[in-house]
Amino acid sequence: MNTKALNDAAKILRDAKRAVALTGAGVSVESGIPDFRSPGGLWTRYPPDEYATIDAYRSNPDKVWALWHELGRDLREATPNPGHVALAQLEAAGRLAAVITQNIDNLHQRAGSQRVIEYHGNATELVCLNCGRSEPLNAHAAGDRAPRCSCAPGALMKPAIVFFGEMIPPRAAQEAGELARTCDVMLIVGTSASVYPCAGLPFAAKENRATIIECNLEATDYTDRITDVFLQGRAGELLPALCNIVKSD
Ligand code: NAD
Repeated sequence: MNTKALNDAAKILRDAKRAVALTGAGVSVESGIPDFRSPGGLWTRYPPDEYATIDAYRSNPDKVWALWHELGRDLREATPNPGHVALAQLEAAGRLAAVITQNIDNLHQRAGSQRVIEYHGNATELVCLNCGRSEPLNAHAAGDRAPRCSCAPGALMKPAIVFFGEMIPPRAAQEAGELARTCDVMLIVGTSASVYPCAGLPFAAKENRATIIECNLEATDYTDRITDVFLQGRAGELLPALCNIVKSD
C-alpha cells in the first residue's frame, strides 16, 4: 500500500469543498460481481454487440436474457464490500457530496450511501417495453426466458438498465454533469475509462480545475492525462484506509 499516495489523497479530501466519487464495475469486484473487461470478465463470454445492445435484446430476447440471468444470480448473492462502506462513511462524515455510479447493482445504496446517481440504471428492477410498468427483478430471476409483462400478449420486459444504443436517463445525465462541472475533487474508483459518455465526466471535472484521485487496479486513460494522485490496488483495501486517515483528524 502506497502510504504517501494515501496521505496525499486524504489531505485533498479533507480540504475539498465539494468532492464527488465516480465508480465503475471495479468497486464491486470484491463483492463477487465480475467486471466486464478483465480476463474472465462477462464480455469474454457475452460479447457486448450480441448481448448488451437494445437491438439485440429486442430481436433475440431469450438469448440475451442468459447474461441477465447469470448477472441476476451474482447480484442476489452480492453484499456491499468495505470499499462501498468507506464511500458511505466519507459521505456521512461530510467529505463526499455524492456517488455517481456506472454500476447497476444497488450496492452503494445498500452500503448506506444517500446520494447515488445511477448513470446506467439499476438491474434489480425490470421495466416493460410496452407499458412502462416496473417491478422487482426477483419475481423473474429464476426463469431462463426473458420476462413478459401481463399488459399485452408477448410484451417484453427488460432490466431497468441502459443498454448500448439507449439514452442515459436524462435526470441522471444532468445531475452527474452538474456535479462534474462543480466539484473541486473527483475520486474515480474501479472504472476503465472506456464507456462514454460517463467516461467523459472526469475530463469535464478536470477542465474546471478539479483535483483527480484515481483508485484502480491498473493504469487507465485517466492516469497519465488527468490523475493527480493514483491509488493503485484494490478498492476494498484502499478506500477503508483512505477513509480512516480522512476521519482521523
Ligand atoms: P470495466 O469492467 O470496464 O473496468 C473495471 C475497472 O476496475 C478496470 O479498470 C479494473 O482494472 C478495475 N478493477 C477491477 N477490480 C478492482 C478492484 N478490486 N479495485 C479497484 N479497481 C478494480 O468497468 P466499467 O468501467 O465500470 O464499465 C463497464 C460497464 O459495465 C459500466 O457501464 C458498468 O455499468 C457495467 N457493469 C456494472 C457492474 C456492476 O453493476 N457491478 C458489473 C460489470 C459491469
